[in-house]
Amino acid sequence: MNKLNSAIKFHGHLGPWLVMGLLLGEYGLKKIKAKKYFGLKVDAKLPYRKPVSCFVDGLQLSSGCTLGKRNIKVINSRNIEIKLTNLIKRNHIILGIDDEILRRLKNLKTHDESEDFADKIYRMKPQTLFKILRKVS
Ligand SMILES: [Zn+2]
Repeated sequence: MNKLNSAIKFHGHLGPWLVMGLLLGEYGLKKIKAKKYFGLKVDAKLPYRKPVSCFVDGLQLSSGCTLGKRNIKVINSRNIEIKLTNLIKRNHIILGIDDEILRRLKNLKTHDESEDFADKIYRMKPQTLFKILRKVS
């Protein structure tokens, strides 16, 4: 099973915010040269309500930081800022979502529209989807 299908199986449905979380975690880990699961932590600032909160499931799957292990923290906030910290190398990155992508996410109306957009962003480059707000190495 590919990672998108396992994410859908875990989360229960395909949604664009789930996919955004999946891709952001992957991208962020690469940027801070961290491995999944241990030796890193995630602080996720976002509006903690559906559908945006679906992001947290994708992020847990891709970063391996989970609520159960307590190495991910969710902070309810107006804007979206995801901080990933490599605890071994002591570096971190703060990522946000590209303005145009965010605008399109907010304008999704129907279920079908959301699924189509989820498929679409899954095939997009992370540099198009996310912006680096801060990087400390
Ligand atoms: Zn969802």
